[in-house]
Order: sequence, then C-alpha cells, then structure tokens
Amino acid sequence: MTHLCVSLTEPDTTAMLEAMRELPPEVGLVELRLDAMESCRLEELVAGRGRPVIVTNRPQREGGRCRAPEAERLGLLRRAAELGAEYVDIELDAASHLGDLPAGTQRIISYHNFDETPGDLEAVLRRIRAAGADVAKLAAMARDMGDVAPVLELLCRHAAEAPLIALSMGEAGIPTRVLAGKFGAFLTYASRAAGREAAPGQVPVDEMLSMYRLPQLGKDTAVYGVAANPVGHSMSPAVHNAAFAALGLDAVYLPFLVTDPAAFLGDFEPLGLRGLSVTIPHKEAMLALMDEVDETARRVGALNTVHIRDGRRYGCNTDVRAAVDAIRDAAARAGIRPLAGRRVLIVGAGGGARAIACGLRREGADLVIANRTVSRGQALAREVGADACGLEEMTRLRPEIIVNATSVGMWPRTERTPVPAEMLRGGMVVFDAVYNPPRTRLLREAEQANATTAGGLDWFVNQAAAQFELWTGRPAPREVMREALETGLARMRDRPATGG
Ligand code: NAP
Repeated sequence: MTHLCVSLTEPDTTAMLEAMRELPPEVGLVELRLDAMESCRLEELVAGRGRPVIVTNRPQREGGRCRAPEAERLGLLRRAAELGAEYVDIELDAASHLGDLPAGTQRIISYHNFDETPGDLEAVLRRIRAAGADVAKLAAMARDMGDVAPVLELLCRHAAEAPLIALSMGEAGIPTRVLAGKFGAFLTYASRAAGREAAPGQVPVDEMLSMYRLPQLGKDTAVYGVAANPVGHSMSPAVHNAAFAALGLDAVYLPFLVTDPAAFLGDFEPLGLRGLSVTIPHKEAMLALMDEVDETARRVGALNTVHIRDGRRYGCNTDVRAAVDAIRDAAARAGIRPLAGRRVLIVGAGGGARAIACGLRREGADLVIANRTVSRGQALAREVGADACGLEEMTRLRPEIIVNATSVGMWPRTERTPVPAEMLRGGMVVFDAVYNPPRTRLLREAEQANATTAGGLDWFVNQAAAQFELWTGRPAPREVMREALETGLARMRDRPATGG
C-alpha cells in the first residue's frame, strides 16, 4: 500500500506538533522538514510524533533551507534516528557520510533535480540502491507530460523490487503524485495546505483525499484527464472527480500539461489512459491522431473529447451539442422554438464562437457574427454561412437571441460587458459563454430587461456530462458536477489575484 505522507514545514516545535495532531487519519507518514524550522527541540518533536515520521534536513544545494555545516546537518539526522524516528532522508551525495543508523530506522536515499528530468533515471536509481537505500527516492522537475512518462515507467518497472518513491515536481508533475498508488510507489507527498508546499507541485492533503480520493486508487484505477497548456486553472478535474466519486467508480481525472499530443498519447495509453478532455491549444491537432472521429468533430475541425477503447482512439466533439442544448433550453423557456429561422447574433469569432455557430447553423438559425477583429468574424461567417459585422454595427440589429462568445466579462474583469444594455429587451434570449462568474454583467442586465438567460455554466456542465456518459456508459450526476464547478470557481475568485 502506498503511504500518504504530508511534508510539514512549520517554524518551531510547538507548531510542528500541533500541525501533526491536526492531520487526517489517512496520513500514514509525516515528513518533518527540520531545515524549514527556525528552532527545533528534537527530543520533544520525535517523542511527541504520534505517527511514523521521516526526518529530513535538506541542504540548500538540494532545494532545502539548511545552511548549517554538513557535519552538524548530518548529526541532527543521526540524533533523530537515535531518538526513534522511523525514517531519515539523506541525499545521495551525502549518504556515505551518514554512518550506521539504529536498526529501527530506515534510510531513504534521495536524489533531486530542480532543473530537469534527466534521461538516465535508471542509472540514478541503481546508484541510490547501491548506496544502501532501504527506500529509494527520485524527484525531478517536469516541464510537461513528456517528463512525467519516464518517472511513471520507472515506477512500473522497479517499484515491486524494493521500496521506491519516484515523482515529478512542478505543476506538470501532479499526475505522478496522484497515481503513485496505481504504480506501486512507497509513498506520495502532500502539503498541509495550499501555499505550504515543501516542494513545487505538492497537492494539498485535503485535495488528495477529497478530490482525488487517494486511498481508493489502485492498480486497476482507470485514468482520465484534461490535455491542455496551460492546465493549472482547469475546473475539469474537480467536476469529473466529483462525478466519479458520486457513482463510486474506480477512476481518476487529472490535469495533463501537454505540449506534444502525439507523444503524450503514445506514452500514456500503455499506462492506463482511457479518456481525455481536450482544450486549448490541442483541439485541432488531436483530430489527426484519432482512429475514428465523429461527424461533428470532423465538420467543426476540432474535438474536445477522446475515448480510448479496445486500443482505438475515438475523438468527438461534445462542445457543439452542449452549447446548442443550453441555448435551445433557454429559447424554449422564452417560447422561441424551434431554432430554425431565428435571428441570432453571435458576438465573438474564436473557438467557442465557432462551435456555437456550427451548431446553430445546423439547427437552421440565421446568424450574424459580430467581432472586434472584423476580418476574423467575416472568415467564420463565410465558413458557416452567416453574415458578419463589426461591434458598432451590431447595435442596429434586432436579434431574437444574443450569444456572447467573447471573453469579455470574465473574472477578474467582471465589470465589463460585450453588449450594450440598450440592445437587451424582454422576450429575447441571452446566452453568455463566460462561466466565471456564472452570473455575468451581461446576464444581470439581460434579466433586468426581462430577457431569458443561460450561462456558460450550463454549457460547461452539458459538455462535461456528455464526456462522462461516453466514457462510463452511465448517466452523469449533473447536479454533483454543477456544484463542484460552482465551488471550484468560487474558490478561484476568492484566491488573491496573481496578475496576468
Ligand atoms: P478565443 O478563441 O480566444 O476567442 C476570443 C474571442 O473574444 C475573440 O472573438 C476575440 O475577438 C474576443 N475578444 C477578446 N477580448 C475582447 C475584447 N476586449 N473586446 C471584444 N472582443 C474581445 O476564445 P474562446 O475559446 O472562443 O472562448 C471565448 C469565451 O467562451 C471565453 O469566455 C471562454 O471561457 C468561453 N467558453 C466557454 C465554454 C463553456 O463550456 N462554457 C467553452 C468554450 C469557451 P478578436 O477576434 O478580435 O480577438
């Protein structure tokens, strides 16, 4: 069984002991990062531990904060072992200087590379084991999933021989931390809370337990995820993991930071990948990598979903149908049905606008595409069979349905709106693709004008539910998914802005 280990970086003994006591029972090991402590009463700390500990005193050269002379640094580790610590972590280059440890203490010999994932992980592992490790540990920085694959492959090949910890650091490395149990790692590290990471990419322990359901993941767990770049702000892991949990499925959904989609699929299919959500910038490039593609994806020239079954890759587009369904539902509420022949104004001409325009044209709606960059709007209009205009000209139109498919109004610039309030009136339908915040200024003003509204949240949940149903063959728990999305978005808005 893979242990869940929380790394603690509290500044003093009292804070360390208190933090240890507060950890949930699923945490089987605690790493005490002595190098992060400003003062340490080691006897008291080890005696009061309450559960097995790894004592680490990381030097600066390996990403830690210990500046003490080497003899003093190692002396503290030896003392921790004499006091009964279950494990001490010693860096590979210092392992031969540590000397013998009492029989009750195991030696984790560790290798860290904060610059890159080296090509010779196997050779590093051989050196660690030859140095007398009870547990071998390799941690290397990953730029993308291309660096993550060799780490998981190392676990696949060598975790059964002797205890092994192998993980990728950085945002791209999250899959190695979550899938540690599937691939038989000795442990996986988590942080105590967001912002308290002892190493880049550590996931907070509550997220490991509640979102990723770590204790329930095993070798048969099916792997899904979102392939994107960047991927950090994706809400899809929260939404799909909540759905897997609600149905009690042995499956997990991860953020995959992908730069090379072909290599990623090649590497990860053998590692248990069953399905993907695909988003910017891979929606078009993934098409060419499929064995089979549905008609919508082919027509739109973009997919957002991959299902891997019986060794074949099936690509489809759930975005188009999901958007049309959300707009059709709102139109039906407003008494506008069918969509055929209806005058629709789409503001925007990017990927989202394209999916919506294709779907609505298929329903027979009459479209005008208004875009800031008029030439881009014209190109989309030509492609789908619509009229085009600029943002000023659009105010002269009298559409029955208005769709915002720009990012205007999106958090954090929530005071903005792409459509002047004078254009909004009772009886019309207003659909805003923006889902953060769920109630944009445009939707609020449309409600004030007695228009019927639908938001990007409906679109998001519709497309995610369709993916879930394709992958699992089970009805999607839509309410659970919507709640997870709303909670995730609210949490994102509450976090301090980081700019950009
Ligand atoms: P995109 O390809 O980057 O296109 C962005 C569009 O917004 C372009 O038409 C762009 O006009 C326009 N735009 C950006 N800033 C503007 C401004 N200040 N004033 C006027 N127009 C502006 O993005 P996308 O993928 O289509 O996404 C567009 C929106 O749809 C985003 O809010 C996204 O979150 C949302 N979306 C939601 C879902 C969902 O499931 N709910 C799915 C997909 C997209 P130019 O051509 O002039 O640059």
